[in-house]
Amino acid sequence: MKVTVFGVGYVGLVQGAVLAEVGHKVVCVDVDQSKVDFLNKGGVPIYEPGLEPLVKTNLEAGRLSFTTDAKAGVEHGDVIFIAVGTPPDEDGSADLKYVLEVAGSIAEHAQKHKIVINKSTVPVGTADKVRNKLKQVRRCEQASFDVVSNPEFLKEGAAVSDCMRPDRIILGTDSDIAEKTLRELYAPFNRNHDKIIVMDIRSAELTKYAANCMLATKISFMNEMSNLAERFGADIENVRRGIGSDARIGYQFIYAGCGYGGSCFPKDVQALVRSANSAGYRARILEAVESVNYAQKEKLFEYIYRHFEGDLEGRTIALWGLSFKPNTDDMREASSRVLMEKLWQAGAKVQAFDPKAMDETQRIYGHRDDLQLLGTKESALSGADALVVCTEWQMFKAPDFELIKERLTAPVIFDGRNLYEPDQLSAMGIQYYGIGRGKSL
Ligand code: NAD
Repeated sequence: MKVTVFGVGYVGLVQGAVLAEVGHKVVCVDVDQSKVDFLNKGGVPIYEPGLEPLVKTNLEAGRLSFTTDAKAGVEHGDVIFIAVGTPPDEDGSADLKYVLEVAGSIAEHAQKHKIVINKSTVPVGTADKVRNKLKQVRRCEQASFDVVSNPEFLKEGAAVSDCMRPDRIILGTDSDIAEKTLRELYAPFNRNHDKIIVMDIRSAELTKYAANCMLATKISFMNEMSNLAERFGADIENVRRGIGSDARIGYQFIYAGCGYGGSCFPKDVQALVRSANSAGYRARILEAVESVNYAQKEKLFEYIYRHFEGDLEGRTIALWGLSFKPNTDDMREASSRVLMEKLWQAGAKVQAFDPKAMDETQRIYGHRDDLQLLGTKESALSGADALVVCTEWQMFKAPDFELIKERLTAPVIFDGRNLYEPDQLSAMGIQYYGIGRGKSL
C-alpha cells in the first residue's frame, strides 16, 4: 500500500519505518530540512531501540524515503498519516496549528480520494476541524477525503516493538471503505488475534486522552501514597507489593518516584483539563494529578536542601539519569531538569551522566560552568557531595556501592526511583533517601 506520513518525530518516524518493514511503500514528509537530510543519509535523529537498523534497511530497499516536499508526499499516499506535534498552547490546551497546516497541505495537493488518518494526540472534535479544513482548501474536484482517528499508544523507549506488536489498534471512523483499507494496512500487525477496535471518531479521540490520564493518575496516586508513607513511617515499596497483588489493581505502573515527565503525560493531562473546562466541566481528579506531579518533581531538591541544611552554595551533586525515562534520549519535561535548575539556583554544581541523553542535555542547556557531563557513571561521582538518581536505567540498578562511598566526599544517595534497599545501604554506612520510604523526612 502507498502510505505517506507527515511528521518524522517519535511517532511518525517509527510508524513510517515499521510500515515500510512489512512491505508498504512509505514517504515521510517533514518541514525540518536538517532532519530530512540526516535521515536520507541513513542517520536517525532520535534514540529509540531498534530504530536505526530499521530505517537504514528500508531506506536502502527503497520502501522508505524522506522529503520536505508536501506535494510529492500527498501525491504518493492513498493513506496519509498526520503525526505532527500537538504542543500545549499558552493556556495548556492542545495547539492544533501543525495538524491543521498538514490538513491544508493535503487538501491543496490532493487530486483524488485520500484517507487522512490522525495519529497525533488531539482533543475531541479535531476530526471535524480537519474535515472542515480539507473542505475549505480543496482545489481539485476529484479530491475527496475520509478522516480517521487512529491514536498512537507507543511508549518511548519501546516504540518499535510497540508498533510491531501493538496491544490494540483503535480506529475511529464512520466510513466502511476507510475501515477496510486500514484493516488491510494493519493486517501484518494483527495476525495473532484481532486487536482492531472500531468505534466512532469522538470516542477514539477521547480514548487516547483517557489512557494517558489513567496512567498519569496511577503515578500521582502512588506518589500521594508515598507522601503519606513518609509521614506515617511506612515504606511505599511494601505498600506497592501489597496492593499490586490484588488482580484488580495489578503491579503495572504503580511505582512511586520523582514525578512523571515526557512529551505526553504532562501535556495530555493539561489538555484534557482545558477541554473539560471548555465543555463546562471541572476535571477535579485530573487537576489533582497535575498538581501532585508538579510537587513531586521538586521532592528530590527538597530532600537535598534539607539534608545540607540549605547550604548548597558551591556543593557538587552527582546526577545519574537525565532522560525522562529509561531507553530514550527525550528530555521533555524530565524531572532531572526541575532538579538541575533548582540546584543551579541554589548555587550548586551538577556532574551528570546519562547513557543516551547527554547530547540532548547539551543542546538544551549549552555550555555552563555549573554543569559537567561525564563519560561514565563512575566519573560523575568524583568529588561530589551526594549522588542523585533521576532515571531508572538498568545500568544504575546494581552499582558498586563501595566505589560510590569512596568517590563521594560523604556517602549519601538520593534515590528518585527507589532502586536501592535502604537497609542494605545503611548497613554499608551510606545515608539513603528514597521516595516514601519511611525515614526520608
Ligand atoms: P515530535 O515533536 O517528536 O515530532 C513532530 C514532527 O512534526 C517534527 O519533526 C516536526 O518538524 C514535524 N512537523 C511539524 N509541522 C509539520 C508539517 N506541517 N509538516 C510536516 N511535518 C511537520 O512529536 P512526537 O513525539 O512524534 O508526537 C507527535 C504526536 O503524537 C503528538 O500529538 C503526540 O502527543 C503524539 N504521541 C506521542 C507519543 C510519544 O511517545 N512521543 C506517543 C503517542 C502519541
